Amino acid sequence: MNLNITLTQQVDAVLPQTQCGLCGHRDGCLPYAQAIVEGEDANKCIPGGQPVADQLAEILNRPILVAEQSVWPIQADGRPQRMKAVIREDECIGCTKCISACPVDAIIGSGKLMHSILTDLCTGCELCIPPCPVDCIDLVEDHSTLLTEQQRLVEQDELRNRYYAHIQRQEKRQNTRKGPIVRAAIESEVFSQFADVETQDNTVVASAAIAPEQDAKRIIELAKIRSQIKKLDKQLSVRPEPAKQQLLDELKAKLTVIEGA
Ligand code: SF4
Ligand code: SF4
Ligand code: SF4
Repeated sequence: MNLNITLTQQVDAVLPQTQCGLCGHRDGCLPYAQAIVEGEDANKCIPGGQPVADQLAEILNRPILVAEQSVWPIQADGRPQRMKAVIREDECIGCTKCISACPVDAIIGSGKLMHSILTDLCTGCELCIPPCPVDCIDLVEDHSTLLTEQQRLVEQDELRNRYYAHIQRQEKRQNTRKGPIVRAAIESEVFSQFADVETQDNTVVASAAIAPEQDAKRIIELAKIRSQIKKLDKQLSVRPEPAKQQLLDELKAKLTVIEGA
C-alpha cells in the first residue's frame, strides 16, 4: 500500500482521538486520517467540529468544508459540547460488556460486580451505551474548564496511547476467547504500519507508536487513584473522618510514588 505516512500522522495528530467512529470509520481516528490522505473529505470528525475541519483544510491545502453537525450544542471553542458517561451503579448487573466497548479503558469493574467510569478518562464517545443490556449508562454534559491547545494535544496523545493498548488487549482476548467481545474485529493493518515507523519525525511518530501495555496500566492505575482522591477530598470537606483522612493521605503518597516511577 502506498501511504503517505508523515501526512497521515499530521492529520491524525489533529483528530481528537475519541475513537468514536462517528466519521464512519469504526476503528477510529487513524483509519479516518488515512482515508483523508487518500482523498476522503476532511469534515467528518463530529467531536472535532469546525475547528478540526479548518485545521485539516490548512494542512492538506484543500478548501474549507462545513463540519458535519453534532447532536450536541457548540461550546465556546467552536467544538461540540464535551460529554461524559455515568453508570447508574445501583442498576448495573456487572456483565462487563461496557469494558470491552470502551476504547480508552475508562471503565473499571469485574464480573457480576458493579462497574464505574473513571470520569477523567471518559471522552463521551458513547460506545459503551449500546452494549449495556440494562441501559444503565447516561451521558451528561461536561462543563469543566475548556482545554488549552497544549492541554488538548497532551490529552490526545494519552487517548491515542490508551486506544492502541486497548486494541492489543482486545486482539489477545479475541484470540483466547476470554470475555465478551463487543466491537467487531479491528482491522489492525493500518495500526501495525504506524507501529513500525519510528524514525521519520520524532514528535509525530512518538505519539503514533503503540504504547506498551504497561504504560496503559499505569495510566489507568493513576486515574483510579486520582478519582478516589477526588471523591475522598469532597467527602472530607463535608465531614472530617480520621479513617478516611488516613486513606486519603495513603493514596496521595501512593500517587506521588507512581508518578515518580
Ligand atoms: S474522534 Fe473524529 S476522527 Fe476520531 S473516530 Fe471520532 S469522528 Fe472519527
Ligand atoms: S466510558 Fe463510555 S463514553 Fe466514556 S470513553 Fe468509555 S466507552 Fe466512551
Ligand atoms: S454493560 Fe451495563 S450492566 Fe454491564 S457492566 Fe457495564 S454498566 Fe453494568
